[in-house]
Amino acid sequence: MDGFLPTFTRRKLLPPTYREATWDKPVLRLGEPERVIIPLQDSPGTSYQVAVKEGEDVTAGQKIGVMGEAPASLSVHASISGTVEQIAALPHPLGFQAISLSIASDGKHETCECSPLKTGDRAGNGRKVLEGLQEMGIPLSYRHLMANDSRVSCLIINATEFEPYITSRHVLLKEHGNEVAAGLQVLMTACSVKQAVIVVENTHTALVEPLKRDGQGTVDIRVRGVTQPYPDTANWLLEDKFSPLKSNNKHGSAQGLMMSVDLSSLFAINNAWVSGLPFTEQLITIAGSAVRDPQNVWVKTGTPLSPIITHAGGDLSRVGRLVLGGPLMGIPQHTLAVPLIKKAKGLFAAVAFLVDEHRESRFYKQAPCVKCAKCVDVCPASLVPNTIADFVTNKLLNDAQEWGVFHCLECGLCEYSCPSRIPLLEIMRLGKVLLKGEDCLLGRNVFGALYG
Ligand code: SF4
Ligand code: SF4
Repeated sequence: MDGFLPTFTRRKLLPPTYREATWDKPVLRLGEPERVIIPLQDSPGTSYQVAVKEGEDVTAGQKIGVMGEAPASLSVHASISGTVEQIAALPHPLGFQAISLSIASDGKHETCECSPLKTGDRAGNGRKVLEGLQEMGIPLSYRHLMANDSRVSCLIINATEFEPYITSRHVLLKEHGNEVAAGLQVLMTACSVKQAVIVVENTHTALVEPLKRDGQGTVDIRVRGVTQPYPDTANWLLEDKFSPLKSNNKHGSAQGLMMSVDLSSLFAINNAWVSGLPFTEQLITIAGSAVRDPQNVWVKTGTPLSPIITHAGGDLSRVGRLVLGGPLMGIPQHTLAVPLIKKAKGLFAAVAFLVDEHRESRFYKQAPCVKCAKCVDVCPASLVPNTIADFVTNKLLNDAQEWGVFHCLECGLCEYSCPSRIPLLEIMRLGKVLLKGEDCLLGRNVFGALYG
């Protein structure tokens, strides 16, 4: 496997992207939910601080806690105004119980006083701007930046949309391209970075024009068109393939660090810079056969999944498969009580597994492997997913490692194409966490029957 560069051209073996349902629709804003649930942990054991007490009134945008430890800590904010009714371990979309704050809305829509980052003594001091972004709850690779910001030489922005059905990334560019571009400028200045590469599908290069235009003259912003989209888990591939640092260097090796940045973070950076607004709302796509009105919608962070599905005309009793993040790579959910968390750009509710949605399906029931090798055909890393899955489920972890489980890009193409509905992606993830000896709550939740 060493030296082999995965390619996503095999994706063409999959069904169409089904993006027409949401691409051209007006973007709405979900009304304020009755309550939000805001986790202070993003994995079991993450350290946290709580800045409010049960019974205390809070306003939207108020800091209510801190997730993680400095220098990589992230401030957490209330997304609605109301009363903190509970601070307790509550279900998290990643499958564990996370210390979370439940805030009941008071219906007043009160917002805390915000101070734009561009004012005061922060402006002109890159490090202080970056610290300010952390305080606004914007997730970036702060470990790199705060350790030694001069080592970051180039930003890579993956503007491709890998997931079928999901259009939120492209719609954000379509509706708010100028704000995203302004956020990129702020980040580049704060990090003293002169180069950025934006990777986008050849069919959508017009969407990133504002980002390119804003940078002209002062910084080097390049657009790279690709025929097939790349998942965020393969951003290192984009760095390897498109880094201008490489072409500037006669030895062909990359110098300095490249940092991948998410488009929604760039949008949030502009909000923090211009208006002082913390990152408490995000644009998501709601799609799938369980919703009557698939759409892109702005949703307050921490909103439980049920009002989101209901908003899109979803019948909660018909939701057979619920995925946070997209049908390929999303995290399957087992309860509607979990909240929307940052980075979840799509909420996918379906009554049946999608590949077979237009045929009479077995309704998402797993069947034995029929050795059809469809999973092998689509795997961009040239793995043999069915064999690795066999090893993992039979606890032959060393064999799974030898057959390349750590080369899995977690793209989900194998699982999506499997006619037997075998949860191959989840088995790959489970194999990795077991081999790393990490706590495996997600795996236990999904595969209690295997390892329980
Ligand atoms: S094993 Fe499956 S999830 Fe992993 S890279 Fe191959 S197709 Fe993608
Ligand atoms: S696609 Fe599914 S049924 Fe076909 S070989 Fe792979 S695991 Fe087996």
